[in-house]
Amino acid sequence: MHEWALAESVIKTAVEHAGAQKLRKLTEAGVVFGELQAIDGEIFDFALEQLRAQFPAAARCRFKIIKEPAAFRCKACSHEFPLKGLRKTKDESEFIHFVPEMAHTFLKCPACGSPDFEIAAGRGVHISYIKGEK
Ligand SMILES: [Zn+2]
Repeated sequence: MHEWALAESVIKTAVEHAGAQKLRKLTEAGVVFGELQAIDGEIFDFALEQLRAQFPAAARCRFKIIKEPAAFRCKACSHEFPLKGLRKTKDESEFIHFVPEMAHTFLKCPACGSPDFEIAAGRGVHISYIKGEK
């Protein structure tokens, strides 16, 4: 059920941002989803719909989901490369989605071949922007 916990924290964060910007009502919030964040979008949308009624400032807010593609940064040569386009089997791809840490087992830097890299983008969930009325 972590979609529900995520949805609640997204709404709370959006409402906090709104408070900080002195907005009384949220009209739209951009929610960025990392590609590596394993989440069921339908459950998440449903959870947002159900939960936002508890937050008056977000009751009419449209939550716009933005997918952020995964990218990695090589620690050896600083080359940045996306998850897409790298050679891997479908099973490996799904496994990486499930356990991002396992990417190291399957992926190598396409520039220098080093398996030592960090995740540069595509993890977690965050609010990218909010719009609202004062
Ligand atoms: Zn490299």
